[in-house]
Amino acid sequence: MSRVIGIDLGTTNSCVAVMEGNEPTVIVSADGARTTPSVVAFTKDGERLVGAAAKRQAVVNHQRTVQSIKREMGSDYRVRIDNHSYTPQEISAMILQKLKKDAEDYLGEAVTEAVITVPAYFTDSQRQATKDAGRIAGLDVKRIINEPTAAALAYGIDKEQAQKIMVYDLGGGTFDVSVLDINADVIEVLATAGNNRLGGDDFDTCVADYLAAEFRRSSGIDVTRDAAAMQRVREAAEKAKIELSASLNTTVNLPFLAMGKEGPAHLELTLTRAKFDDLTRHLVQATIGPMEQALKDAGLTGSDLSKVLLVGGSSRIPAVQQMVKSFCGKEPFKGINPDECVALGAAIQGGVMLGTVKSLLLLDVTPLSLGVETVGNTFSRIVDRNTTIPVKRSQIFSTAAPFQTSVDINVLQGEREIASANKSLGRFRLSGIRRAMAGVPQIEVTFSIDANGIVNVSAKDLGTGKAQEITISGSSNMSEAEIQRAMQDAQRFAEEDKRKHEEEERRWKKHQKQQPGASADAAGSSGNDDGAEDAE
Ligand code: AMP
Repeated sequence: MSRVIGIDLGTTNSCVAVMEGNEPTVIVSADGARTTPSVVAFTKDGERLVGAAAKRQAVVNHQRTVQSIKREMGSDYRVRIDNHSYTPQEISAMILQKLKKDAEDYLGEAVTEAVITVPAYFTDSQRQATKDAGRIAGLDVKRIINEPTAAALAYGIDKEQAQKIMVYDLGGGTFDVSVLDINADVIEVLATAGNNRLGGDDFDTCVADYLAAEFRRSSGIDVTRDAAAMQRVREAAEKAKIELSASLNTTVNLPFLAMGKEGPAHLELTLTRAKFDDLTRHLVQATIGPMEQALKDAGLTGSDLSKVLLVGGSSRIPAVQQMVKSFCGKEPFKGINPDECVALGAAIQGGVMLGTVKSLLLLDVTPLSLGVETVGNTFSRIVDRNTTIPVKRSQIFSTAAPFQTSVDINVLQGEREIASANKSLGRFRLSGIRRAMAGVPQIEVTFSIDANGIVNVSAKDLGTGKAQEITISGSSNMSEAEIQRAMQDAQRFAEEDKRKHEEEERRWKKHQKQQPGASADAAGSSGNDDGAEDAE
């Protein structure tokens, strides 16, 4: 059987790993890096760039560069380039295709199966969208697992001692916190909480807004509507943020940021860590609520935790580390690489699915409650949040009006008592109910959640035995026909890219042969002209 790769499809960066023997290993990309920027760009001459190449040209081609698409997964957001409109699933599939290709080059064999991670707090439609992105990229997604759970797998695989841990995962665009019980070969998630729209990008926005305001104060020029200038400001903001994780101050230097009445204006200022902490304090504070909730749902307090693992690039921010430390009353554990442990955990889960990693049982939970809308805009819960998955639960409902022969079932996910305040995952109609007075028909609604956290709902009129079953696919998700079309597009592009690549290689080798005294093979294997010259 072929290998199953583990993919951390991140908001900012992605990472791919595979089991080699008993050890999960990060796969180094074609660019020689251990993570790949989750960036896709469309050049004016129709070329598609993914990863570092796309990130490098973002400033000069910002309108045709797509970043942080993960934030839009499961929504009806579309990326419009020329006459084509791309779903977030299709853009994510381009990133997945690159990771798949890197894995194939590394392993020297075709890769068709993967485990992909998602934030624990992803809703059903976001999970479904991630699975669809995998399919479009030509991957059979064997399992969707939660990022903090994957991190705990990477941490806990060889832990003999029973312990309860917390995983605090602050990435580029999402925040998750999970409390887990690790006991011999069983890793059980006790509770999870989070915020799907909180991450490093928000820290960048705070700093970028501050830089733009300071620039306006010193030069009188408002750059906020100049997209190219703002792209530079955002990049400088992220760079400053990262530098401030290691030093107490940093300088931001953006020459020729805009043209003023008196000529070009430059932005130059020193940003201190104290100022950065001031600007972003509310974001750090916003992670406390989910931590409290996860601990409460798990029935624990900070002192019950043996370890707190920090995951995600943004957990390197010193103010974040200090806050976690004071909240949990212990120094966070630094023994795992926050950028790689999620992909490593996904690779381990791949090994479990292949049977190469033995006797490891992973018990995860559903992050949000599920139920249906009933009379008076009420949310009737059927599955509570933090219920271990897979799970199947039923409840009997009835009609609200006399002689009602059909019911509309609005499937909801969320924690609010008011139905309309929760996310509707989809609606369906059960018709053909036997005519009877209100409250007489018995309609059994059953929710089943599979190990990926993906929801199936069925409704059955117990009087007639008539049933309706749906796999939830909200209006924002792609239809089967759309997925099939996208798969064909992706395949066509992969072949085109391969052809272009081979053509370039042929041209390059021919060019090398024409160079007197240079051996194409020697230079090809070093990939470096200087190396070939040195050898002479
Ligand atoms: P991830 O999604 O886990 O790859 O996290 C990416 C986020 O982490 C981005 O917002 C990065 O800017 C941020 N990040 C990476 N390294 C650091 C660092 N040293 N300090 C602060 N933020 C960082």
